[in-house]
Amino acid sequence: MATVDADGFAGDVVGAVAHQQGHQVAEFFHLAVAAGRQFIGLGGADRGIAGRAELQGIKTRAVRMDDNFVINGSKTFISNGQHSDLVIVVARTSDAPGSKGTSLILVEADRPGFRRGRNLDKLGHLSSDTSELFFDDVTVPVSNLLGAEGTGFASLMGELPQERLTLAVSLMASAQKAFDITWDYVNSRRAFGKTIMDFQDTRYKLADLKAELSVGWAFVDQCLEKHDRHALTSADAPIAKLWCTEMRGRLVDSCLQFFGGYGFMREYEICRLYADARVQRIYGGTSEIMRELISRSF
Ligand SMILES: Cc1cc2nc3c(=O)[nH]c(=O)nc-3n(C[C@H](O)[C@H](O)[C@H](O)COP(=O)(O)OP(=O)(O)OC[C@H]3O[C@@H](n4cnc5c(N)ncnc54)[C@H](O)[C@@H]3O)c2cc1C
Repeated sequence: MATVDADGFAGDVVGAVAHQQGHQVAEFFHLAVAAGRQFIGLGGADRGIAGRAELQGIKTRAVRMDDNFVINGSKTFISNGQHSDLVIVVARTSDAPGSKGTSLILVEADRPGFRRGRNLDKLGHLSSDTSELFFDDVTVPVSNLLGAEGTGFASLMGELPQERLTLAVSLMASAQKAFDITWDYVNSRRAFGKTIMDFQDTRYKLADLKAELSVGWAFVDQCLEKHDRHALTSADAPIAKLWCTEMRGRLVDSCLQFFGGYGFMREYEICRLYADARVQRIYGGTSEIMRELISRSF
């Protein structure tokens, strides 16, 4: 699945949308992507106009002409944009207000008019590319429409709780990883004739972090169990995503400190975990948007 999107979240949505639509993308997804031969990108965020925080503001247009759609617009921050063989584009197909006019359309990367822009220079998550994509009169057959016309926003929204839960699981896993490698390090590194672990400050700080991890795992497990029963509330997944994101940020920052100067060196995994943590507060729904969603459940 990492071949879909090393960032995880878009891959999760792509997979879920493919499954949901029962379209030819499902076959493509299961055969080619799962075999690690092909990549799919999710082009949601319009360039300079709207991120996924504001999907309703999508400006990229797909105009129906006979049996085709002609797509014009651009996307930015698209995970796997440089490698995608197939892009699921969120486009406006009518002037219906807000979310009602958006549709999901498959675009094969070898269509004339499709162009990849820059591979954006990022702070972290260097294992996947994040790119700009351009669509200049890209013509695709109407059969490339995923689901019914005008249901694009609803399709994506329907998958968001699962996406956020998937993110919460990976956030917990990476926080646990940071804790575990820190544990190993403080038990082997010595200063002033003792291991770093021998300092009371280290033990107490790690005790705090272990408590945070335990609470996080328990809540995520509870959410997964509710998700299985289709009993998640509208606030559960945003709470999981928000809390795990913020906890991971705090935890990895504290862990890096125990590594001293080595913590600042990219050759150390803790450094990379620190850099990768920052974006979690931004993608898959920013922390501010998670707070907004939670507040609506009051
Ligand atoms: C590495 C990376 C990979 C990405 N991959 C993809 C991808 O594959 N596909 C895709 O479609 N998108 C992708 N994105 C886009 C990502 O989802 C957006 O960057 C994110 O949703 C934020 O949107 P924005 O950048 O437009 O920020 P903006 O919407 O401009 O937000 C700027 C700030 O304002 C705050 N804000 C905005 N609206 C509100 C509000 N209503 N209330 C309170 N605060 C608000 C935000 O929280 C943020 O702090 C990726 C982004 C990154 C960084």
